[in-house]
Parts: sequence; C-alpha cells; structure tokens
Amino acid sequence: MSPLATRIDALLPQTQCAKCGYEGCRPYAEAIANAEADIDQCPPGGDEGVAKLAALLGRPAKRLDATRGEFLPPRVALIDESQCIGCVKCIQACPVDAIVGASKLMHTVIAGWCTGCELCIPPCPVDCIALVPVPALPDPDLSRQRHGFRAARLAREAAEHAARMLEREG
Ligand code: SF4
Ligand code: SF4
Ligand code: SF4
Repeated sequence: MSPLATRIDALLPQTQCAKCGYEGCRPYAEAIANAEADIDQCPPGGDEGVAKLAALLGRPAKRLDATRGEFLPPRVALIDESQCIGCVKCIQACPVDAIVGASKLMHTVIAGWCTGCELCIPPCPVDCIALVPVPALPDPDLSRQRHGFRAARLAREAAEHAARMLEREG
C-alpha cells in the first residue's frame, strides 16, 4: 500500500462490508489514493468518516452517498443455534473469520470480532442470523488484522489445494 493509501485506510472503519464497491477497506483506500473512487462511499463511516477523508485530502466536505447504504448504530450478528443446520455458508462469507463451527454442527459468532458487516446474512439458507445492537464494534485495528489473517488463511488453503492436485496428477 502507498503511504497515502495507508493514511486513508487508517480512517476507514474496517467493517470490511464491501458496501463501498470494493472487497474491503484496504482496496477502497487504494482506489481513493489512486483517484479511482470518491470519498463518500463508506456507509459504516457515515458523514463523519467522509469529513475525515475530506480533511486528510484537502477536499470540500460532502455527505455520504446514500445509494451505498445508510450509517447505522453498532450491531453484531447473532445465530439462532437451535435453527442452524451447520452448512458453513456464513463462515465462508465472513470477512474477519468471526464465526466458529464445522460442517453439520452448530455455528456461533464471536461477538468481540464481529464487525456487523451483514455479509453472513444473505447466504444463510434458514435465515437464522440476526443483527443485535451492541455498545461498540471491535477496535478497527483488530478488524484490519483479522481481515489480513483471513486473507493469509485463504491463500494458504489455495496453495495447499494446488499442491494436492499436483501430487495426484504426478
Ligand atoms: S467499512 Fe465497508 S464500505 Fe467502508 S471502506 Fe470498509 S469495506 Fe468499504
Ligand atoms: S459474523 Fe456476519 S456480520 Fe459479523 S463480521 Fe462475520 S459476516 Fe460480518
Ligand atoms: S449459514 Fe446459517 S444455517 Fe448455515 S451454518 Fe451459518 S448460521 Fe448455520
């Protein structure tokens, strides 16, 4: 990341919800730094977040682009474990690995890691995930770190899968 993108990323809420149109906060920060995206695209940051970006970049303040979504108070996901069928679809969708569970077993959200991004809700086939209000979301630094851990895990699993395929072919 360029130094400017790093400074922009430091102002983003690290929800990793993709509502900005990018697959996470870091790529959105890079797009702003490269003048490929506007500063008003992050609903979790709200008008205040847009104002911080405007101040950093020396631009006039503006309102959040409402077509991206609305600013909401902090909420985290809660799974109704009595309904969960253990399909793991929510785990696959979670950008910060905040859900634990295994195939055909009940799943649970680790509330202290959940950013309330909502990405686990549409894939759930039994609609057993709700968002509940909380006093505050996790520290953005923790969410940034967990998003990085997940990216590293996915890269490691892809490399292991490729190696197994090669072994079978050989
Ligand atoms: S919090 Fe969501 S909308 Fe805001 S920059 Fe991060 S991924 Fe994009
Ligand atoms: S548990 Fe759901 S709402 Fe919470 S971070 Fe993961 S995908 Fe987002
Ligand atoms: S997507 Fe829904 S049913 Fe599937 S494991 Fe997650 S909470 Fe359970």
